[in-house]
Amino acid sequence: MKRINALRATFQGACDIKVEVGQFFFFVALICMYILHTGGTNMPDSVPALEQQRRQILEQIANLGDFRSGSISSVTTRCGKPTCHCARPKDPGHGPALRLTYKVKGKSRIETLSAPGALHKAQQEIAVFRQFQQQVQSLIEVNAALCRLRPVSSREPEQTPQEKKRRKPFNRKSRGK
Ligand SMILES: [Zn+2]
Repeated sequence: MKRINALRATFQGACDIKVEVGQFFFFVALICMYILHTGGTNMPDSVPALEQQRRQILEQIANLGDFRSGSISSVTTRCGKPTCHCARPKDPGHGPALRLTYKVKGKSRIETLSAPGALHKAQQEIAVFRQFQQQVQSLIEVNAALCRLRPVSSREPEQTPQEKKRRKPFNRKSRGK
């Protein structure tokens, strides 16, 4: 009987710990949801603060330095000459050679990273590109928050004579329908 009680006590103890662990994970989940909801940054809620943040992001982008998009890969090749060692079975082939693949106007381009230090240079340039992408994302979010806070003008925007001319046929058409 004593043994059962002891067991029960241990079991209850384990249950208490489980509850604590559960609460801990609940709070962690809450914090994660908060971070996800706010985009991981504390977005200010006033126009001057948002404008200040926008200036900061633009300044950071201006100071990024060189960057490029692309991905680095390591490739081994076979030259195709039947007398070459790479033609033998189980031969690892030529290389491995490091290359950078990127796109210019939708077309893939490849650069070989053969010079000493070329890999490090390309890695750094790509890392800066990731920063640029993050800052562009922040810039979009800050601008969207600013747009939400800007008041709506009660006046209709003034039309230039050209715009008035252009709108007339459209109005007639929609009225006719
Ligand atoms: Zn070969």
